[in-house]
Amino acid sequence: MDFKLSPDEISFARGVRAFLEEEAQHPDAHDFMDPDRDCHSQLANSPERRAFCRRMAKRGYLGMSWPKSYGGQEIPGIYEYLLNEELALRGAPLIGKGVGCIGKTIIRHGSEEMKRQFLPMILDAETEFALGYSEPGAGSDLASLKLRAEPDGDGWVLNGQKVWTTSANFAEWYWVAARTDPDAPKHKGISVFLLPMNTPGLTVRKIDTLGHHLTNEVFFDNVRVGPGALVGELNKGWTYVCEALDFERFTFYTVNPLLQKFERALEALRGRTRNGHPLSEDIGVRRAVGKLAAEIETAKMLQRRVVDSAAKGGVPAIEAAMYKVFATRLQQVVTDFVLDHLGPTGLLRKGAPGAVDGGVWEHFYQTTPLDTIGGGTSEVQKNIIARRHLGLPLA
Ligand SMILES: Cc1cc2nc3c(=O)[nH]c(=O)nc-3n(C[C@H](O)[C@H](O)[C@H](O)COP(=O)(O)OP(=O)(O)OC[C@H]3O[C@@H](n4cnc5c(N)ncnc54)[C@H](O)[C@@H]3O)c2cc1C
Repeated sequence: MDFKLSPDEISFARGVRAFLEEEAQHPDAHDFMDPDRDCHSQLANSPERRAFCRRMAKRGYLGMSWPKSYGGQEIPGIYEYLLNEELALRGAPLIGKGVGCIGKTIIRHGSEEMKRQFLPMILDAETEFALGYSEPGAGSDLASLKLRAEPDGDGWVLNGQKVWTTSANFAEWYWVAARTDPDAPKHKGISVFLLPMNTPGLTVRKIDTLGHHLTNEVFFDNVRVGPGALVGELNKGWTYVCEALDFERFTFYTVNPLLQKFERALEALRGRTRNGHPLSEDIGVRRAVGKLAAEIETAKMLQRRVVDSAAKGGVPAIEAAMYKVFATRLQQVVTDFVLDHLGPTGLLRKGAPGAVDGGVWEHFYQTTPLDTIGGGTSEVQKNIIARRHLGLPLA
């Protein structure tokens, strides 16, 4: 077993690190780079963040794995994964949604007109997308979605609701899964549409969630779109949604933020005392830290199995499920461990006088549960492992 990176890959990662070091000197760097935001900084919107994305585009970091005929470099997806690891370490916006899910689906299935319109915009980081999949009655069981798209002249009219749409409050374009054939089996009557967020009849309502993670509900009230809004073929949407998730496998699963959190945890506890004795001499603390260190290594190995399998051309659904369920839980365990040992000041929020480590642990306490839900909940990951890996029947 050899998970070592090639000299080219190491040199690429170094180049990205140097680029990010330069970017960190920017006076507005905190607007697009902040590890304390727990890797959700890609969700924020600001002119500085957009400018940073355009600078990444100028460096050629967007669309690296795309075919050359569409402006890409045709280099292996591992480079996109390495880029995201470095970005995640700095809390900078990750690549994925436009370049991965939307761009790659358009390349494979979009019309020539759609390719001409969207691919250059994605490569130049000129636009933001929101992904509209989840609905109030369709999350884990996404194929039950009910947003209705009915034929209207040569276009479509959409009615219904989406929920938890990240970025809908600032994105320019909305990538939406809708039901186009209510009589077909549920996976077969879904199509994907791409429409401007300012289309009349769309209403976006913000939802403030844990740790002030902002998301949105989106209401469709007779939203009319032309024939060009349909992505690919009618009623093939489920295939596109599943494929898009596969495209993300390289880029979704960064491990650096977890490693960094563990380092910060050790740093936060180093030198602290309880009842006049250093925590580092407490046998219970030492045992717990040793166990955590072993689990962090396990997470690293599980993540490398995802990358290794994807690099060999596989679809690492089981590996990705194992990594996600393990690592997202471990983030919570590390955070709980630190808070248990920091004492009451550990619970002070960011900005509060006396808050330990700038209040970041209280913030992590609120934000780490999000990763156990987004992109498929932990229970869903366990079902994937039970069925596909262990061969257990559907519950
Ligand atoms: C940070 C974040 C960002 C997100 N961004 C987006 C976005 O941009 N676009 C978008 O469309 N959605 C987005 N989502 C929504 C996300 O995809 C859903 O929340 C997720 O798929 C779960 O769906 P749900 O909330 O409807 O919960 P449900 O599916 O209703 O699940 C409720 C509970 O039941 C459990 N459960 C459900 N089914 C089973 C089962 N078969 N076996 C065992 N347990 C089960 C779940 O694990 C969960 O604990 C985001 C979510 C988060 C947290």
